Amino acid sequence: MRKPILIGNWKMNGSLQANQALMVRVLPRLRKFRKSIDLAVCPPYPYLFQVRDLLGYTGIMLGAQNASGFVSGAYTGEVSATMLQEMGCRYVLVGHSERRLLFGESNQEVAARYRSVLGAGVAPVLCVGETLEDRESNRTGLIIEQQLQAVIGEVGLAAMANGIIAYEPVWAIGTGKTATPEQVSRVHQQIRQFIANNAPEASDDISQELRVIYGGSVKSANAFELFSLADVDGGLIGGASLHADEFGTIAGAL
Ligand code: PEP
Repeated sequence: MRKPILIGNWKMNGSLQANQALMVRVLPRLRKFRKSIDLAVCPPYPYLFQVRDLLGYTGIMLGAQNASGFVSGAYTGEVSATMLQEMGCRYVLVGHSERRLLFGESNQEVAARYRSVLGAGVAPVLCVGETLEDRESNRTGLIIEQQLQAVIGEVGLAAMANGIIAYEPVWAIGTGKTATPEQVSRVHQQIRQFIANNAPEASDDISQELRVIYGGSVKSANAFELFSLADVDGGLIGGASLHADEFGTIAGAL
């Protein structure tokens, strides 16, 4: 059985005061779900310490939005996975489409970041997904396979068992457009099938164990339908994770 997981990605939002206010409102709404689902929030780096303290012993976990592909050294502006592990992060997003598209992170760079996160003993959440142009030119499957293959080539498929895959169609992120249940189901099945096809004999059931979650304008109004799909093991939530009522209702949909 794959345990559902809900991850909030705060992106570059928040302040000391706003984070405190959000957590005061959201934690009571999440607490009741913490036994049946894994829950995590990913604030911007400077607030990790604050949010870690606010999470306290609630069982809700801390995550980060990215990590360097380097271990340490002269890489100004980078944050290593080990530092994030030391801060208490249990998850790190890798290859979010905003990183790929706005900051030029290539499949290879994403794979290096993935390796660093794994090496620090933290679970990477690998974001994959197609742009609208990819979808309209029937390249969805190919693009996602290339994104997955780069990571498989870097760390090997067996090592990915500890990670999570987040399917996030780029055209649905922060746009208010959600993929239809049919579109989501199809891609989730394709991802699982691709993993199964690439699994070495000895680790056949990795495709059944690996959690594949969905992200892209999930809100309380569509969460129940999306999370009822057989191959959807949870959600990566951007905008709606900044609203206590919304995030609480979305957690209740899992
Ligand atoms: C995201 O940032 O990963 C995301 C899915 O954003 P939103 O929910 O706002 O579309």
